Amino acid sequence: MLAKSVIVYLIGAVLSASVFAKSDIDDKLKYADSIKTKSPQEFSVILSEISAQRQQLDTSDYYYLMLLEGFHLGFNRKPAEALEKYRAIIQQSSDSDLKARALSASINIHAITRNIAQGYKDVQSLYEITPEVSEAVQLESLMILSIFFNQVDDYEAALKNASAVLEKSQQKRFQCFGMVMKMEAMLNLGQLDLQSPFDQTLENCREVGEMIPASRVILHKATALSDNDELSAALRLLESNETMFINTGYAVGLSDYYANISGMYLTYGRLSDALEAAQQAVSLTENTGLTKPRAVALDVISKVYEQQGEFDQALAFFKRASETEKALLDETKARQLAIQQAKNEALEREIHIKLLDKENSLLKTEAALSTKELENSRLVIVVLLMLGALVIVWLLVNRKMHKELRRQARTDKLTGILNRHYFTELAESNLRYHQKTSQTLALVIFDLDLFKRINDTYGHVTGDWALVEVTRVIKSACRKQDILGRMGGEEFAILLPGCTVEKAESLTESFRRAVEAIDTSHTGSDFTITASFGLTDTNQCGYKFDQLYACADEALYRSKHEGRNQVYRYDPSFKESPAFLSTDPIGT
Ligand code: GH3
Ligand code: MG
Ligand code: MG
Repeated sequence: MLAKSVIVYLIGAVLSASVFAKSDIDDKLKYADSIKTKSPQEFSVILSEISAQRQQLDTSDYYYLMLLEGFHLGFNRKPAEALEKYRAIIQQSSDSDLKARALSASINIHAITRNIAQGYKDVQSLYEITPEVSEAVQLESLMILSIFFNQVDDYEAALKNASAVLEKSQQKRFQCFGMVMKMEAMLNLGQLDLQSPFDQTLENCREVGEMIPASRVILHKATALSDNDELSAALRLLESNETMFINTGYAVGLSDYYANISGMYLTYGRLSDALEAAQQAVSLTENTGLTKPRAVALDVISKVYEQQGEFDQALAFFKRASETEKALLDETKARQLAIQQAKNEALEREIHIKLLDKENSLLKTEAALSTKELENSRLVIVVLLMLGALVIVWLLVNRKMHKELRRQARTDKLTGILNRHYFTELAESNLRYHQKTSQTLALVIFDLDLFKRINDTYGHVTGDWALVEVTRVIKSACRKQDILGRMGGEEFAILLPGCTVEKAESLTESFRRAVEAIDTSHTGSDFTITASFGLTDTNQCGYKFDQLYACADEALYRSKHEGRNQVYRYDPSFKESPAFLSTDPIGT
Protein backbone atom coordinates (compact mmCIF):
# COMPACT_ATOMS: atom_id res chain seq x y z
CA MET A 1 0.00 0.00 0.00
CA LEU A 2 1.11 3.57 -0.60
CA ALA A 3 2.65 5.36 2.30
CA LYS A 4 1.06 8.53 3.61
CA SER A 5 3.78 10.98 2.68
CA VAL A 6 3.86 9.60 -0.83
CA ILE A 7 0.12 10.15 -1.04
CA VAL A 8 0.45 13.76 0.12
CA TYR A 9 3.02 14.32 -2.55
CA LEU A 10 1.05 12.59 -5.29
CA ILE A 11 -2.12 14.49 -4.51
CA GLY A 12 -0.28 17.79 -4.39
CA ALA A 13 1.34 17.08 -7.71
CA VAL A 14 -1.90 15.96 -9.33
CA LEU A 15 -3.77 18.98 -8.09
CA SER A 16 -1.25 21.43 -9.48
CA ALA A 17 -2.90 21.71 -12.87
CA SER A 18 -5.39 24.55 -12.88
CA VAL A 19 -8.06 25.96 -15.13
CA PHE A 20 -9.11 29.39 -13.98
CA ALA A 21 -8.38 32.84 -15.46
CA LYS A 22 -9.84 36.38 -15.12
CA SER A 23 -8.06 39.36 -13.64
CA ASP A 24 -4.62 40.25 -12.27
CA ILE A 25 -5.37 38.73 -8.93
CA ASP A 26 -6.77 35.79 -10.75
CA ASP A 27 -3.49 35.30 -12.61
CA LYS A 28 -1.67 35.50 -9.33
CA LEU A 29 -3.96 32.88 -7.83
CA LYS A 30 -3.45 30.68 -10.84
CA TYR A 31 0.30 31.05 -10.63
CA ALA A 32 0.33 30.22 -6.94
CA ASP A 33 -1.78 27.17 -7.73
CA SER A 34 0.69 25.97 -10.32
CA ILE A 35 3.78 26.22 -8.10
CA LYS A 36 2.40 25.00 -4.80
CA THR A 37 4.13 21.62 -4.78
CA LYS A 38 7.25 22.62 -6.66
CA SER A 39 8.14 25.65 -4.53
CA PRO A 40 6.13 25.65 -1.33
CA GLN A 41 8.09 28.60 0.03
CA GLU A 42 7.18 30.92 -2.85
CA PHE A 43 3.63 29.59 -2.76
CA SER A 44 3.33 30.61 0.85
CA VAL A 45 4.67 34.13 0.14
CA ILE A 46 2.29 34.74 -2.78
CA LEU A 47 -0.59 33.40 -0.78
CA SER A 48 -0.05 35.93 1.99
CA GLU A 49 0.24 38.70 -0.61
CA ILE A 50 -3.13 37.76 -2.05
CA SER A 51 -4.63 37.41 1.43
CA ALA A 52 -3.66 41.03 2.09
CA GLN A 53 -5.86 42.04 -0.87
CA ARG A 54 -8.75 39.95 0.38
CA GLN A 55 -11.26 42.83 0.29
CA GLN A 56 -10.84 43.29 -3.44
CA LEU A 57 -11.63 39.70 -4.33
CA ASP A 58 -14.85 38.81 -6.08
CA THR A 59 -16.78 35.75 -4.97
CA SER A 60 -15.10 33.21 -7.21
CA ASP A 61 -11.58 34.48 -6.40
CA TYR A 62 -12.51 34.49 -2.74
CA TYR A 63 -13.25 30.77 -2.83
CA TYR A 64 -10.26 30.08 -5.06
CA LEU A 65 -8.05 31.72 -2.44
CA MET A 66 -9.77 29.63 0.21
CA LEU A 67 -8.93 26.46 -1.72
CA LEU A 68 -5.26 27.43 -1.93
CA GLU A 69 -5.24 28.29 1.76
CA GLY A 70 -6.63 24.82 2.36
CA PHE A 71 -3.74 23.27 0.42
CA HIS A 72 -1.30 25.36 2.39
CA LEU A 73 -2.76 24.23 5.70
CA GLY A 74 -2.81 20.62 4.48
CA PHE A 75 0.85 20.69 3.47
CA ASN A 76 1.69 22.17 6.86
CA ARG A 77 0.00 19.32 8.65
CA LYS A 78 -3.07 21.17 9.82
CA PRO A 79 -5.66 18.81 8.38
CA ALA A 80 -8.56 19.94 10.56
CA GLU A 81 -8.15 23.57 9.56
CA ALA A 82 -7.71 22.63 5.90
CA LEU A 83 -10.93 20.63 6.06
CA GLU A 84 -12.80 23.65 7.39
CA LYS A 85 -11.80 25.64 4.31
CA TYR A 86 -12.79 22.83 1.96
CA ARG A 87 -16.10 22.36 3.75
CA ALA A 88 -16.92 26.05 3.32
CA ILE A 89 -16.19 25.84 -0.42
CA ILE A 90 -18.24 22.67 -0.84
CA GLN A 91 -21.21 24.19 0.96
CA GLN A 92 -21.09 27.76 -0.26
CA SER A 93 -19.41 28.06 -3.62
CA SER A 94 -21.49 27.76 -6.76
CA ASP A 95 -18.48 26.91 -8.93
CA SER A 96 -18.52 23.16 -9.66
CA ASP A 97 -14.84 23.03 -10.55
CA LEU A 98 -13.83 24.59 -7.25
CA LYS A 99 -16.21 22.34 -5.38
CA ALA A 100 -14.80 19.25 -7.08
CA ARG A 101 -11.25 20.29 -6.25
CA ALA A 102 -12.21 20.97 -2.62
CA LEU A 103 -13.89 17.57 -2.44
CA SER A 104 -10.81 15.87 -3.90
CA ALA A 105 -8.54 17.57 -1.40
CA SER A 106 -10.84 16.70 1.44
CA ILE A 107 -10.96 13.05 0.33
CA ASN A 108 -7.18 13.05 0.45
CA ILE A 109 -7.16 14.30 4.03
CA HIS A 110 -9.74 11.73 5.09
CA ALA A 111 -7.61 8.99 3.54
CA ILE A 112 -4.55 10.17 5.44
CA THR A 113 -6.32 10.69 8.74
CA ARG A 114 -8.11 7.38 8.23
CA ASN A 115 -11.56 8.92 8.44
CA ILE A 116 -12.77 6.54 5.79
CA ALA A 117 -16.51 6.94 6.37
CA GLN A 118 -16.31 10.68 5.74
CA GLY A 119 -13.98 10.01 2.80
CA TYR A 120 -16.59 7.79 1.16
CA LYS A 121 -19.26 10.44 1.72
CA ASP A 122 -17.13 12.98 -0.11
CA VAL A 123 -16.46 10.41 -2.84
CA GLN A 124 -20.22 10.11 -3.28
CA SER A 125 -20.61 13.90 -3.54
CA LEU A 126 -17.73 14.08 -5.97
CA TYR A 127 -19.37 11.45 -8.20
CA GLU A 128 -22.59 13.46 -8.06
CA ILE A 129 -21.09 16.70 -9.34
CA THR A 130 -18.64 15.12 -11.81
CA PRO A 131 -20.95 15.55 -14.84
CA GLU A 132 -20.94 19.33 -14.28
CA VAL A 133 -17.19 19.89 -14.03
CA SER A 134 -14.69 20.74 -16.72
CA GLU A 135 -12.72 18.02 -18.46
CA ALA A 136 -9.46 18.95 -16.73
CA VAL A 137 -10.94 18.86 -13.23
CA GLN A 138 -12.77 15.64 -14.05
CA LEU A 139 -9.45 14.06 -14.86
CA GLU A 140 -7.94 15.27 -11.60
CA SER A 141 -10.94 13.91 -9.71
CA LEU A 142 -10.56 10.48 -11.27
CA MET A 143 -6.89 10.52 -10.36
CA ILE A 144 -7.63 11.44 -6.75
CA LEU A 145 -10.29 8.74 -6.56
CA SER A 146 -7.85 6.09 -7.73
CA ILE A 147 -5.31 7.21 -5.13
CA PHE A 148 -8.00 7.23 -2.43
CA PHE A 149 -9.28 3.76 -3.26
CA ASN A 150 -5.76 2.34 -3.27
CA GLN A 151 -5.16 3.93 0.07
CA VAL A 152 -8.28 2.38 1.60
CA ASP A 153 -7.61 -1.07 0.04
CA ASP A 154 -10.55 -0.85 -2.38
CA TYR A 155 -8.38 -1.99 -5.27
CA GLU A 156 -11.15 -2.82 -7.76
CA ALA A 157 -12.43 0.74 -7.55
CA ALA A 158 -8.87 2.09 -7.72
CA LEU A 159 -8.24 0.09 -10.87
CA LYS A 160 -11.42 1.35 -12.50
CA ASN A 161 -10.61 4.98 -11.86
CA ALA A 162 -6.95 4.70 -12.84
CA SER A 163 -7.95 3.02 -16.11
CA ALA A 164 -10.38 5.87 -16.79
CA VAL A 165 -7.56 8.38 -16.32
CA LEU A 166 -5.35 6.51 -18.78
CA GLU A 167 -8.17 6.37 -21.29
CA LYS A 168 -9.11 10.03 -21.03
CA SER A 169 -5.72 11.69 -21.26
CA GLN A 170 -2.58 11.04 -23.22
CA GLN A 171 -0.67 13.70 -21.29
CA LYS A 172 2.56 12.26 -19.92
CA ARG A 173 1.83 13.41 -16.36
CA PHE A 174 -1.52 11.60 -16.30
CA GLN A 175 -0.08 8.57 -18.05
CA CYS A 176 2.63 8.49 -15.38
CA PHE A 177 0.35 8.88 -12.33
CA GLY A 178 -2.51 6.89 -13.82
CA MET A 179 -0.33 3.91 -14.65
CA VAL A 180 1.41 3.93 -11.27
CA MET A 181 -1.99 3.85 -9.55
CA LYS A 182 -3.12 1.09 -11.89
CA MET A 183 0.01 -0.93 -11.07
CA GLU A 184 -0.51 -0.34 -7.35
CA ALA A 185 -4.06 -1.71 -7.61
CA MET A 186 -3.10 -4.66 -9.82
CA LEU A 187 -0.23 -5.57 -7.50
CA ASN A 188 -2.65 -5.78 -4.59
CA LEU A 189 -5.17 -7.74 -6.65
CA GLY A 190 -2.41 -10.18 -7.59
CA GLN A 191 -2.74 -9.23 -11.27
CA LEU A 192 0.52 -7.43 -11.87
CA ASP A 193 2.83 -9.29 -14.20
CA LEU A 194 5.72 -8.62 -16.54
CA GLN A 195 3.36 -7.56 -19.35
CA SER A 196 2.77 -4.21 -17.60
CA PRO A 197 4.33 -1.21 -19.40
CA PHE A 198 7.01 -0.54 -16.76
CA ASP A 199 9.59 1.01 -19.04
CA GLN A 200 7.16 3.28 -20.88
CA THR A 201 5.71 4.50 -17.59
CA LEU A 202 9.15 5.08 -16.17
CA GLU A 203 10.00 7.20 -19.19
CA ASN A 204 6.76 9.21 -18.88
CA CYS A 205 7.39 9.90 -15.21
CA ARG A 206 11.02 10.86 -15.83
CA GLU A 207 10.02 13.21 -18.64
CA VAL A 208 7.70 15.19 -16.41
CA GLY A 209 10.24 15.09 -13.59
CA GLU A 210 8.09 13.05 -11.19
CA MET A 211 10.65 10.86 -9.48
CA ILE A 212 8.50 9.50 -6.68
CA PRO A 213 6.03 7.73 -8.98
CA ALA A 214 9.04 6.70 -11.09
CA SER A 215 10.57 5.01 -8.06
CA ARG A 216 7.28 3.17 -7.42
CA VAL A 217 7.49 1.78 -10.96
CA ILE A 218 10.95 0.38 -10.25
CA LEU A 219 9.68 -1.31 -7.09
CA HIS A 220 6.69 -2.77 -8.91
CA LYS A 221 8.85 -4.05 -11.73
CA ALA A 222 11.23 -5.66 -9.25
CA THR A 223 8.28 -7.33 -7.54
CA ALA A 224 6.93 -8.62 -10.87
CA LEU A 225 10.37 -9.94 -11.79
CA SER A 226 10.87 -11.78 -8.53
CA ASP A 227 7.31 -13.16 -8.68
CA ASN A 228 8.34 -14.54 -12.07
CA ASP A 229 11.39 -16.19 -10.47
CA GLU A 230 13.76 -13.71 -12.11
CA LEU A 231 15.32 -12.84 -8.79
CA SER A 232 18.74 -11.86 -10.06
CA ALA A 233 17.24 -9.43 -12.60
CA ALA A 234 15.07 -7.97 -9.84
CA LEU A 235 18.07 -7.52 -7.57
CA ARG A 236 20.12 -5.92 -10.35
CA LEU A 237 17.29 -3.51 -11.11
CA LEU A 238 17.03 -2.41 -7.47
CA GLU A 239 20.77 -2.18 -6.94
CA SER A 240 21.26 0.01 -9.99
CA ASN A 241 18.58 2.44 -8.82
CA GLU A 242 19.60 3.03 -5.20
CA THR A 243 20.64 6.64 -5.86
CA MET A 244 17.31 7.42 -7.44
CA PHE A 245 15.46 6.26 -4.33
CA ILE A 246 17.80 8.23 -2.10
CA ASN A 247 17.39 11.35 -4.26
CA THR A 248 13.61 11.38 -3.94
CA GLY A 249 14.16 12.27 -0.29
CA TYR A 250 11.13 10.22 0.75
CA ALA A 251 11.96 8.13 3.79
CA VAL A 252 8.97 5.88 3.34
CA GLY A 253 9.71 5.03 -0.28
CA LEU A 254 13.34 4.48 0.58
CA SER A 255 12.46 2.16 3.45
CA ASP A 256 10.27 0.17 1.07
CA TYR A 257 13.29 -0.11 -1.22
CA TYR A 258 15.65 -1.32 1.53
CA ALA A 259 13.08 -3.76 2.91
CA ASN A 260 12.62 -5.29 -0.54
CA ILE A 261 16.30 -5.56 -1.33
CA SER A 262 17.12 -6.98 2.13
CA GLY A 263 14.72 -9.85 1.46
CA MET A 264 16.47 -10.61 -1.82
CA TYR A 265 19.93 -10.54 -0.23
CA LEU A 266 18.65 -12.96 2.38
CA THR A 267 17.45 -15.34 -0.31
CA TYR A 268 20.91 -15.26 -1.84
CA GLY A 269 22.52 -15.89 1.53
CA ARG A 270 24.27 -12.51 1.44
CA LEU A 271 23.72 -12.12 5.16
CA SER A 272 25.70 -8.98 5.90
CA ASP A 273 24.16 -7.10 2.94
CA ALA A 274 20.72 -8.26 4.06
CA LEU A 275 21.37 -7.09 7.62
CA GLU A 276 22.66 -3.70 6.53
CA ALA A 277 19.73 -3.01 4.18
CA ALA A 278 17.18 -4.20 6.73
CA GLN A 279 18.71 -1.99 9.41
CA GLN A 280 18.44 0.97 7.05
CA ALA A 281 14.74 0.21 6.55
CA VAL A 282 14.16 -0.06 10.29
CA SER A 283 15.91 3.17 11.10
CA LEU A 284 14.08 4.99 8.29
CA THR A 285 10.73 3.90 9.70
CA GLU A 286 11.58 4.85 13.28
CA ASN A 287 9.36 7.92 13.08
CA THR A 288 6.82 6.87 10.50
CA GLY A 289 5.10 4.39 12.76
CA LEU A 290 3.84 1.05 11.64
CA THR A 291 4.56 0.15 8.06
CA LYS A 292 4.82 -3.04 6.06
CA PRO A 293 8.50 -2.39 5.16
CA ARG A 294 9.30 -2.10 8.86
CA ALA A 295 7.71 -5.47 9.59
CA VAL A 296 9.50 -7.08 6.64
CA ALA A 297 12.87 -5.64 7.62
CA LEU A 298 12.55 -6.72 11.27
CA ASP A 299 11.76 -10.20 10.05
CA VAL A 300 14.81 -10.23 7.76
CA ILE A 301 17.04 -9.16 10.67
CA SER A 302 15.65 -11.94 12.81
CA LYS A 303 16.35 -14.51 10.09
CA VAL A 304 19.89 -13.25 9.53
CA TYR A 305 20.65 -13.64 13.24
CA GLU A 306 19.07 -17.06 13.20
CA GLN A 307 21.32 -18.18 10.36
CA GLN A 308 24.31 -16.76 12.19
CA GLY A 309 23.39 -18.79 15.27
CA GLU A 310 22.64 -15.74 17.41
CA PHE A 311 19.38 -17.07 18.74
CA ASP A 312 18.76 -14.47 21.47
CA GLN A 313 18.95 -11.64 18.97
CA ALA A 314 16.92 -13.64 16.46
CA LEU A 315 14.16 -14.11 19.02
CA ALA A 316 14.15 -10.45 20.04
CA PHE A 317 13.74 -9.28 16.45
CA PHE A 318 11.22 -11.98 15.72
CA LYS A 319 9.12 -10.60 18.57
CA ARG A 320 9.38 -7.06 17.26
CA ALA A 321 8.48 -8.21 13.76
CA SER A 322 5.39 -10.05 14.92
CA GLU A 323 4.29 -7.17 17.13
CA THR A 324 4.51 -4.86 14.14
CA GLU A 325 2.67 -7.38 11.96
CA LYS A 326 -0.06 -7.70 14.54
CA ALA A 327 -0.49 -3.97 14.90
CA LEU A 328 -0.66 -3.65 11.10
CA LEU A 329 -3.30 -6.33 11.04
CA ASP A 330 -5.32 -4.55 13.72
CA GLU A 331 -5.11 -1.37 11.71
CA THR A 332 -6.24 -3.18 8.58
CA LYS A 333 -9.16 -4.70 10.44
CA ALA A 334 -10.23 -1.33 11.77
CA ARG A 335 -9.96 0.11 8.28
CA GLN A 336 -12.01 -2.66 6.74
CA LEU A 337 -14.67 -2.15 9.36
CA ALA A 338 -14.84 1.52 8.46
CA ILE A 339 -15.04 0.69 4.76
CA GLN A 340 -17.85 -1.77 5.42
CA GLN A 341 -19.67 0.81 7.42
CA ALA A 342 -19.30 3.43 4.71
CA LYS A 343 -20.64 0.94 2.19
CA ASN A 344 -23.56 0.11 4.48
CA GLU A 345 -24.49 3.76 4.53
CA ALA A 346 -24.50 3.82 0.75
CA LEU A 347 -26.57 0.61 0.75
CA GLU A 348 -29.01 2.19 3.16
CA ARG A 349 -29.54 5.10 0.78
CA GLU A 350 -29.97 2.71 -2.12
CA ILE A 351 -32.51 0.56 -0.30
CA HIS A 352 -34.39 3.65 0.76
CA ILE A 353 -34.69 4.68 -2.90
CA LYS A 354 -35.77 1.17 -3.87
CA LEU A 355 -38.44 1.29 -1.16
CA LEU A 356 -39.83 4.49 -2.62
CA ASP A 357 -39.87 2.85 -6.04
CA LYS A 358 -41.72 -0.13 -4.65
CA GLU A 359 -44.32 2.09 -2.99
CA ASN A 360 -44.77 3.79 -6.28
CA SER A 361 -45.31 0.56 -8.14
CA LEU A 362 -47.72 -0.54 -5.44
CA LEU A 363 -49.85 2.52 -6.09
CA LYS A 364 -49.81 1.80 -9.80
CA THR A 365 -50.79 -1.79 -9.13
CA GLU A 366 -53.70 -0.59 -7.06
CA ALA A 367 -54.87 1.58 -9.91
CA ALA A 368 -54.71 -1.33 -12.30
CA LEU A 369 -56.64 -3.47 -9.84
CA SER A 370 -59.92 -1.78 -10.65
CA THR A 371 -59.78 -3.23 -14.16
CA LYS A 372 -58.15 -6.60 -13.58
CA GLU A 373 -59.29 -7.10 -10.04
CA LEU A 374 -59.01 -10.70 -8.97
CA GLU A 375 -56.04 -11.80 -11.01
CA ASN A 376 -53.94 -8.86 -9.99
CA SER A 377 -54.58 -9.07 -6.29
CA ARG A 378 -51.99 -11.83 -6.19
CA LEU A 379 -49.44 -9.42 -7.58
CA VAL A 380 -50.25 -6.97 -4.80
CA ILE A 381 -49.52 -9.63 -2.23
CA VAL A 382 -46.19 -10.41 -3.86
CA VAL A 383 -45.26 -6.76 -3.96
CA LEU A 384 -46.24 -6.34 -0.33
CA LEU A 385 -44.14 -9.31 0.67
CA MET A 386 -41.15 -7.94 -1.19
CA LEU A 387 -41.65 -4.61 0.42
CA GLY A 388 -41.76 -6.28 3.83
CA ALA A 389 -38.57 -8.19 3.12
CA LEU A 390 -36.81 -5.00 2.06
CA VAL A 391 -37.90 -3.23 5.22
CA ILE A 392 -36.51 -6.05 7.34
CA VAL A 393 -33.16 -6.01 5.55
CA TRP A 394 -33.04 -2.28 5.89
CA LEU A 395 -33.75 -2.40 9.61
CA LEU A 396 -31.10 -5.05 10.19
CA VAL A 397 -28.41 -3.17 8.30
CA ASN A 398 -29.41 -0.01 10.05
CA ARG A 399 -29.31 -1.49 13.54
CA LYS A 400 -25.90 -3.03 13.12
CA MET A 401 -24.54 0.17 11.72
CA HIS A 402 -25.95 2.31 14.49
CA LYS A 403 -24.46 0.04 17.13
CA GLU A 404 -21.03 0.41 15.61
CA LEU A 405 -21.47 4.15 15.10
CA ARG A 406 -22.50 4.50 18.72
CA ARG A 407 -19.40 2.65 19.87
CA GLN A 408 -17.22 4.89 17.72
CA ALA A 409 -18.94 8.04 18.96
CA ARG A 410 -18.08 7.05 22.51
CA THR A 411 -14.42 6.19 22.21
CA ASP A 412 -11.29 8.16 21.59
CA LYS A 413 -9.73 7.01 18.35
CA LEU A 414 -6.10 7.02 19.41
CA THR A 415 -6.31 5.39 22.82
CA GLY A 416 -9.58 3.47 22.58
CA ILE A 417 -10.79 4.79 25.95
CA LEU A 418 -13.89 6.94 26.53
CA ASN A 419 -13.89 10.35 24.94
CA ARG A 420 -14.69 13.52 26.85
CA HIS A 421 -18.33 13.57 25.86
CA TYR A 422 -19.14 10.05 26.93
CA PHE A 423 -16.95 10.19 30.05
CA THR A 424 -18.93 13.23 31.18
CA GLU A 425 -22.20 11.47 30.50
CA LEU A 426 -21.15 8.42 32.52
CA ALA A 427 -19.73 10.57 35.31
CA GLU A 428 -22.98 12.47 35.61
CA SER A 429 -25.09 9.34 35.90
CA ASN A 430 -22.62 7.86 38.43
CA LEU A 431 -22.82 11.05 40.45
CA ARG A 432 -26.63 10.92 40.51
CA TYR A 433 -26.53 7.33 41.73
CA HIS A 434 -23.93 8.07 44.42
CA GLN A 435 -25.90 11.04 45.65
CA LYS A 436 -29.10 9.03 45.87
CA THR A 437 -27.35 6.26 47.82
CA SER A 438 -25.25 8.74 49.87
CA GLN A 439 -21.94 7.32 48.74
CA THR A 440 -18.70 9.13 48.06
CA LEU A 441 -17.06 9.28 44.66
CA ALA A 442 -13.62 10.61 43.79
CA LEU A 443 -12.44 12.27 40.59
CA VAL A 444 -8.81 12.31 39.50
CA ILE A 445 -7.56 14.32 36.55
CA PHE A 446 -4.07 14.26 35.17
CA ASP A 447 -2.08 15.97 32.45
CA LEU A 448 1.18 14.75 30.97
CA ASP A 449 4.15 16.90 31.84
CA LEU A 450 5.95 18.96 29.22
CA PHE A 451 4.40 16.84 26.54
CA LYS A 452 4.98 19.41 23.87
CA ARG A 453 8.69 18.86 24.45
CA ILE A 454 8.28 15.10 23.86
CA ASN A 455 6.56 15.81 20.56
CA ASP A 456 9.14 18.37 19.56
CA THR A 457 12.12 16.20 20.50
CA TYR A 458 11.02 12.70 19.44
CA GLY A 459 8.27 13.38 16.93
CA HIS A 460 4.50 13.10 16.92
CA VAL A 461 4.51 9.36 16.34
CA THR A 462 6.44 8.83 19.57
CA GLY A 463 4.08 11.35 21.22
CA ASP A 464 1.11 9.27 20.11
CA TRP A 465 2.84 6.12 21.32
CA ALA A 466 3.33 7.75 24.74
CA LEU A 467 -0.38 8.62 24.96
CA VAL A 468 -1.36 5.03 24.16
CA GLU A 469 1.21 3.60 26.58
CA VAL A 470 0.10 5.89 29.42
CA THR A 471 -3.47 4.80 28.82
CA ARG A 472 -2.41 1.17 28.94
CA VAL A 473 -0.49 1.39 32.23
CA ILE A 474 -3.15 3.52 33.91
CA LYS A 475 -5.84 1.11 32.83
CA SER A 476 -4.01 -1.80 34.36
CA ALA A 477 -3.38 0.14 37.58
CA CYS A 478 -7.10 1.00 37.85
CA ARG A 479 -9.61 -1.11 39.75
CA LYS A 480 -12.29 -2.89 37.74
CA GLN A 481 -14.99 -0.35 38.53
CA ASP A 482 -12.92 2.75 37.75
CA ILE A 483 -13.70 4.73 34.62
CA LEU A 484 -10.95 6.28 32.50
CA GLY A 485 -11.48 8.93 29.83
CA ARG A 486 -9.42 11.16 27.56
CA MET A 487 -10.57 14.70 28.10
CA GLY A 488 -8.59 16.13 25.20
CA GLY A 489 -4.95 16.39 24.13
CA GLU A 490 -2.82 14.97 26.92
CA GLU A 491 -5.35 15.40 29.68
CA PHE A 492 -7.19 12.42 31.20
CA ALA A 493 -9.73 11.82 33.95
CA ILE A 494 -10.50 8.86 36.21
CA LEU A 495 -13.70 8.34 38.10
CA LEU A 496 -13.28 6.29 41.29
CA PRO A 497 -16.71 5.10 42.47
CA GLY A 498 -17.07 4.56 46.21
CA CYS A 499 -13.76 6.29 46.99
CA THR A 500 -13.01 9.10 49.40
CA VAL A 501 -10.23 11.50 48.57
CA GLU A 502 -7.94 9.73 51.10
CA LYS A 503 -8.33 6.35 49.46
CA ALA A 504 -8.14 7.90 46.00
CA GLU A 505 -4.87 9.61 46.90
CA SER A 506 -3.04 6.36 47.47
CA LEU A 507 -4.46 4.89 44.26
CA THR A 508 -3.43 8.01 42.41
CA GLU A 509 0.07 7.72 43.80
CA SER A 510 0.25 4.28 42.17
CA PHE A 511 -0.98 5.77 38.90
CA ARG A 512 1.74 8.39 39.07
CA ARG A 513 4.41 5.74 39.69
CA ALA A 514 3.10 3.58 36.83
CA VAL A 515 3.47 6.45 34.38
CA GLU A 516 6.92 7.33 35.64
CA ALA A 517 8.01 3.70 35.25
CA ILE A 518 7.11 3.44 31.56
CA ASP A 519 10.00 1.98 29.59
CA THR A 520 10.44 4.12 26.50
CA SER A 521 13.58 2.43 25.21
CA HIS A 522 11.92 0.43 22.46
CA THR A 523 10.75 3.62 20.76
CA GLY A 524 14.43 3.96 19.98
CA SER A 525 14.78 6.90 22.40
CA ASP A 526 15.26 6.95 26.11
CA PHE A 527 13.19 9.46 28.03
CA THR A 528 10.92 9.66 31.04
CA ILE A 529 7.19 10.28 30.90
CA THR A 530 5.57 11.89 33.91
CA ALA A 531 2.19 13.35 34.68
CA SER A 532 0.73 15.73 37.23
CA PHE A 533 -2.39 14.68 39.12
CA GLY A 534 -5.16 16.56 40.89
CA LEU A 535 -8.01 14.96 42.79
CA THR A 536 -11.05 15.59 44.90
CA ASP A 537 -14.21 13.86 46.05
CA THR A 538 -17.90 14.54 46.43
CA ASN A 539 -17.52 15.31 50.16
CA GLN A 540 -15.28 18.21 49.26
CA CYS A 541 -16.97 19.55 46.17
CA GLY A 542 -20.45 18.09 45.87
CA TYR A 543 -22.20 15.98 43.28
CA LYS A 544 -22.19 18.44 40.36
CA PHE A 545 -19.74 17.22 37.72
CA ASP A 546 -18.60 20.68 36.62
CA GLN A 547 -17.90 21.71 40.18
CA LEU A 548 -16.05 18.47 40.95
CA TYR A 549 -13.98 18.85 37.82
CA ALA A 550 -13.12 22.45 38.62
CA CYS A 551 -11.86 21.38 42.08
CA ALA A 552 -9.72 18.57 40.66
CA ASP A 553 -8.42 20.96 38.02
CA GLU A 554 -7.34 23.41 40.67
CA ALA A 555 -5.43 20.62 42.45
CA LEU A 556 -3.85 19.61 39.13
CA TYR A 557 -2.79 23.20 38.62
CA ARG A 558 -1.11 23.08 41.97
CA SER A 559 0.75 19.86 41.06
CA LYS A 560 2.14 21.62 38.02
CA HIS A 561 3.00 24.59 40.16
CA GLU A 562 4.86 22.49 42.72
CA GLY A 563 7.20 21.06 40.11
CA ARG A 564 5.07 18.50 38.18
CA ASN A 565 5.06 14.69 38.60
CA GLN A 566 3.06 15.24 41.81
CA VAL A 567 -0.25 14.23 43.29
CA TYR A 568 -2.30 16.95 45.01
CA ARG A 569 -5.74 16.84 46.46
CA TYR A 570 -8.04 19.82 46.35
CA ASP A 571 -7.50 22.22 49.20
CA PRO A 572 -10.07 25.02 49.51
CA SER A 573 -7.70 27.25 51.46
CA PHE A 574 -5.01 27.07 48.81
CA LYS A 575 -6.54 29.21 46.10
CA GLU A 576 -6.60 32.22 48.44
CA SER A 577 -2.83 32.09 48.62
CA PRO A 578 -1.55 35.17 46.76
CA ALA A 579 1.66 33.37 45.74
CA PHE A 580 -0.39 30.76 43.93
CA LEU A 581 -2.39 33.31 42.02
CA SER A 582 0.45 35.57 41.00
CA THR A 583 2.88 33.09 39.50
CA ASP A 584 2.71 31.41 36.15
CA PRO A 585 3.84 27.83 36.66
CA ILE A 586 2.79 26.29 33.37
CA GLY A 587 6.19 26.22 31.79
CA THR A 588 5.87 29.59 30.03
P1 GH3 B 1 2.62 21.04 30.90
O1 GH3 B 1 3.53 20.19 31.70
O2 GH3 B 1 2.53 22.42 31.45
O3 GH3 B 1 1.28 20.42 30.72
O4 GH3 B 1 3.29 21.20 29.47
P2 GH3 B 1 2.82 20.56 28.12
O5 GH3 B 1 3.91 20.72 27.12
O6 GH3 B 1 2.36 19.18 28.34
O7 GH3 B 1 1.56 21.43 27.78
P3 GH3 B 1 1.04 22.10 26.46
O8 GH3 B 1 -0.44 22.28 26.68
O9 GH3 B 1 1.82 23.31 26.10
O10 GH3 B 1 1.27 21.05 25.33
C1 GH3 B 1 0.45 19.97 25.13
C2 GH3 B 1 0.90 19.33 23.87
O11 GH3 B 1 0.22 18.10 23.63
C3 GH3 B 1 0.65 20.17 22.65
C4 GH3 B 1 0.00 19.27 21.66
O12 GH3 B 1 0.63 19.35 20.40
C5 GH3 B 1 0.20 17.89 22.25
N1 GH3 B 1 -0.86 16.97 21.89
C6 GH3 B 1 -2.18 17.10 22.07
N2 GH3 B 1 -2.85 16.05 21.57
C7 GH3 B 1 -1.94 15.22 21.02
C8 GH3 B 1 -2.00 13.96 20.34
O13 GH3 B 1 -3.06 13.37 20.10
N3 GH3 B 1 -0.82 13.41 19.92
C9 GH3 B 1 0.37 14.01 20.14
N4 GH3 B 1 1.49 13.42 19.72
N5 GH3 B 1 0.46 15.21 20.77
C10 GH3 B 1 -0.66 15.81 21.22
MG1 MG C 1 0.78 18.80 29.56
MG1 MG D 1 -2.68 20.03 28.69
